[in-house]
Amino acid sequence: MHAKPRACQPPAWQPPTEVSPGIFLVPIPIPIPLRYVNCYLLRGPSGWTLVDTGFHDSLAMGAWSRALRHLGIRPQDIKQILLTHYHPDHVGAAGWLQQLTGAPAFLPETEMEQFQRFWADETGDMARRLTELFRAEGMDDATARALGRHHLQQVERVRPLPELQPLPEGSRIHLGDGAYEVIWTPGHSDGLAVFWNAERSILLANDMLLAGITPNVSVWPGSRPNPLADYLSSLQRVAALGARLALTGHRALIRDVAGRAREIIAHHDDRLARVAGAASAAPEGATAWEICRRIFPVDALTLHQIRFAMAETLAHLVYLCEEGRLRKEGMRYRALA
Ligand SMILES: [Zn+2]
Repeated sequence: MHAKPRACQPPAWQPPTEVSPGIFLVPIPIPIPLRYVNCYLLRGPSGWTLVDTGFHDSLAMGAWSRALRHLGIRPQDIKQILLTHYHPDHVGAAGWLQQLTGAPAFLPETEMEQFQRFWADETGDMARRLTELFRAEGMDDATARALGRHHLQQVERVRPLPELQPLPEGSRIHLGDGAYEVIWTPGHSDGLAVFWNAERSILLANDMLLAGITPNVSVWPGSRPNPLADYLSSLQRVAALGARLALTGHRALIRDVAGRAREIIAHHDDRLARVAGAASAAPEGATAWEICRRIFPVDALTLHQIRFAMAETLAHLVYLCEEGRLRKEGMRYRALA
């Protein structure tokens, strides 16, 4: 999960940098402890591709305006917008950028349903379902309700919604001056795709792989049943590509792609053992919320981080139950004798 110190100051603007010929990393400040989302601009023969956006807030709008000016790009020079997955720090400003540039916006087809479920709903249904899910897993009422409200604040930060065109898995999309294959790699989100240019050995990995921190893997209402199993097999698939450079969604870029994938697999093996241990500490077992509190320093976390800590604990518990290492009885998880 993304466990980082709280951000006090808004992160400062940083200029774009050319990380590979024609590919510019554009760090967009975000008001969460991760501090920046790595967005990209790729130069092509007939214009630019913009990848991911930040939230729709003054931080992102100011940073995009400055970055475009810095590179001498006019809004109408942006010919397409690519969104890698539905998370609000990646798609939040897409509607605004679409209005500014007039460019079509693409999202992996596998992610369309989740995008709709989280952001297009006007009834507050997802906030209610989040609160219900966390309460049913032992969380106290006040925290579960606060997390429902927190979700509604996130919804505000992805308005206006972009008009989206789905990108089918296995299809190819031209980004900048190269063709990239759309590879569905579920886990961090149900429909997340990475984009692979074998010729240049470049993987647009977004949050599928991160350096220094591990991408969050969560159970959400309506999500695929076993996201951690999805993620571990996606990591194997990505490791096998042999990419020499991964363009990540936060923090540093990754050059040893297969090595980083193996490290993350090892991290989850270790985390699974800790979660199983926490469930087995008492003979009567423990609720997901109790286990979450044993694994994460919940009292020191922001609501945003608590949401991910709990959902990530659930992803590990589901995996352990599927593997037959734990059993759920009522609200409690316990070791199988
Ligand atoms: Zn993400």
